[in-house]
Amino acid sequence: SQIPQITLNNDVEMPVIGFGVYQIPEDQTQQAVEAALEAGYRSIDTAAAYMNERAVGRAIAASGIPRQEVFVTTKLWIQDYGEDGAKRAFDRSLDRLGLDYLDLYLMHQPLGDYYGSWRAMEKLNRDGRTRAIGVSNFYPDRLVDLITHNEIVPAVNQIETHVFFQRTDDQQVMRETGVQHESWGPLAEGGRGFFENPVLSDISAAHGKSVAQVALRWLVQRGIVVIPKSVRPERMAENLDVFDFELTDEEMAHIATLDTGESHLMNHHDPESVK
Ligand code: NAD
Repeated sequence: SQIPQITLNNDVEMPVIGFGVYQIPEDQTQQAVEAALEAGYRSIDTAAAYMNERAVGRAIAASGIPRQEVFVTTKLWIQDYGEDGAKRAFDRSLDRLGLDYLDLYLMHQPLGDYYGSWRAMEKLNRDGRTRAIGVSNFYPDRLVDLITHNEIVPAVNQIETHVFFQRTDDQQVMRETGVQHESWGPLAEGGRGFFENPVLSDISAAHGKSVAQVALRWLVQRGIVVIPKSVRPERMAENLDVFDFELTDEEMAHIATLDTGESHLMNHHDPESVK
């Protein structure tokens, strides 16, 4: 495929653009993932909490694409945290996905017994049942703490990252610790007037690209993995088509001014908020 790959800290390669399936109802997910694979995506991001792993698995099987050509991520939800819970939850996720190994297993939130979960995930990784393990929604303090007290450094930290919440300090810590920064909500879920933003619109006009493409390109140029979501095939294709232009340093700097330094998509202190 033409989608560039980045190399994770354990030498596993991951496509820089993947397809996210959060909030796609189970009965629409198979069709959406099949369309995404058809459009050229080779990385799919789901989670136990999204309740659509079975449909993701059916789509991958139906596509006929060799298993090793698709990078599959799922996530451990907090109800299953702890060493035993995590192991059992992994088996259930793999079973729902219909796969015999996973590419990336993430801890969804830094809550509860996430140390116990991490020990189980380290074992799953060592046993070859998942090629990489990582975390999600970890702020730098908890990330560094986890790294300091365990053996395997997370390959990825998937955190809310978009033009309004740019995470430059987080990215610096991840660079220093060898953790790949992955963005969720790369299009700010369309909030805060994202698609009408004047800075993004001006840059978009200058390149003849859409606002979505500019925002995704900006993340990719920062070395961040992105997993935009859309159920519309034309938008799926649009979101992949960001490798034929480059933002100038001036444009990058201009977009940097949009940072509010705050989340606007998730209450990061509410353990029950599923994202
Ligand atoms: P997103 O920023 O990708 O926005 C998705 C929305 O933008 C879609 O519903 C669609 O309406 C719109 N859109 C997409 N492409 C468009 C285009 N080209 N033009 C116009 N509109 C377009 O938001 P998201 O789905 O929340 O995030 C992406 C993925 O990240 C999720 O699907 C999920 O896999 C993951 N995620 C993870 C967490 C976490 O806690 N780890 C939280 C949220 C999302």
